[in-house]
Amino acid sequence: MRIALYGGSFDPPHSGHIGIAMAAVESLHLDRVLMAPVGRQPLKQDQAPSPFEDRMIMVQLACAGHPPLAASAIDAPHLDGRYNYTYDTLERLRETLPAVDELFCLVGADSLRTLRQWHRAAEALMLAQWIVAARPGFTLEALETLLPAGMHVGPPEHGDGWLRMSLTKPPESLAGNSQSGTLWLLPGLCYEVSATELRAALAGDPSEIPRQVLDPQVAAYAREHRLYNHA
Ligand code: ATP
Repeated sequence: MRIALYGGSFDPPHSGHIGIAMAAVESLHLDRVLMAPVGRQPLKQDQAPSPFEDRMIMVQLACAGHPPLAASAIDAPHLDGRYNYTYDTLERLRETLPAVDELFCLVGADSLRTLRQWHRAAEALMLAQWIVAARPGFTLEALETLLPAGMHVGPPEHGDGWLRMSLTKPPESLAGNSQSGTLWLLPGLCYEVSATELRAALAGDPSEIPRQVLDPQVAAYAREHRLYNHA
């Protein structure tokens, strides 16, 4: 099986999230994408997300009708309140999968802006094959500058709907070995929608939100549970 972890706040999940997940399924022949709401996001400390349980239910509603996509609680809040780190989640997920399964990690290109601040970023890039969904304005040159210090990206190989590049992580000590990983770039994707804007729209008149942008069942859930009325 080819399985991707796709983490995020998903507050709420929208057509951009579903769009890049389905693009990854189609371009890279993934069997399953696990859309995992993050319990406590270390780099969004100034924002209080909706309760994890509500985000899980909204992701379940958004995934319905897209069979390769499934909601996953693998990144649920920790009982001791510590932050959720992608490195730990990938490691945990890898342990639950048979050795023959291929593990991927899907992100939107804008997430890479903070990559250097991620916990064990270079190691996380080696734990799975990374899939980066391009966003408008994102360039391959930018990718080089966003990677953890000392990491190198190889020349791109072009395929149908993807570019594949090797990643090299330098050895941690003089006696160590370098490690290599794989990064897939999905070019040409453009979903002009953001969760921030949708939260504001849901606080106002939700009937103005097109169903192509936000699944009506997700919109109804958010409204019934008054998730964004304070936005
Ligand atoms: P917010 O506005 O609350 O920050 P967000 O959608 O940017 O919301 P997340 O829900 O954490 O934040 O996003 C999850 C993942 O989806 C990230 O990797 C992000 O890059 C990607 N993503 C979000 N919106 C889009 C979009 N419109 N097109 C492509 N990828 C997206």
